Amino acid sequence: MKWMVVIAAALASCNGAMEHPSEHDASAAHVEPQWRVVDTEFSKGRLGHEQTVTFQDLITFHGHWCDGLVVGALGLGEALTPLFPNAPIDRTDLRIISRSSPCLTDVAVMLTGGRAQFGTFQVSDTLAGLYIVQRISDGKAYRVRLNPGIKPAAIDSLTPLAIARTLSPCGLDSLQAIEQRFGDALLAMDPKAAFTISELADFHWPEATGPVHTKTDILNKLAPRCAH
Ligand SMILES: [Zn+2]
Repeated sequence: MKWMVVIAAALASCNGAMEHPSEHDASAAHVEPQWRVVDTEFSKGRLGHEQTVTFQDLITFHGHWCDGLVVGALGLGEALTPLFPNAPIDRTDLRIISRSSPCLTDVAVMLTGGRAQFGTFQVSDTLAGLYIVQRISDGKAYRVRLNPGIKPAAIDSLTPLAIARTLSPCGLDSLQAIEQRFGDALLAMDPKAAFTISELADFHWPEATGPVHTKTDILNKLAPRCAH
């Protein structure tokens, strides 16, 4: 498994009492996913700068804890594992197609390094599943699907109402509570039971629909080291 785990309960003492019902319960007995990633060392640098991206980093980038962030992170993590089984995730060598959800798209760009302006990130709601992620250098690609029955049906029935802004204030709170329980449950389960990862043989990356710019900070990623 790619991501290392940290018992969230160990962090609970730092949080003190989180009593507001709308707050995510960090004391829930689940694990916090982390991913080891590698990028280039500077604006024109070689590949080699390794970091750990935590689930908390995803929350900071995205803006809030939500079930979609959990779904995206765990699901994509399952596809990144076979792409980089014994190595950090190379964020200079991935491109990804994501469903348009704000949560899923933020996970996609954060964990893969894919960016629309460089032609390595696309969004599609006709996609079967959540993501298609592809390693650029060898074309190896995987589709990520959330298995049927994992996500509570109430989320799917209440979400259109919330998007239409017709859900009552109390209805919004109920939806938040349902999503929180779902996200916590997902974090507590084996992601292999929640997601189906399928390799796509001979996957062809779609043509970009907008201008594609050169990502100048990866051009020298394979440059040899200075001999002096
Ligand atoms: Zn979100």
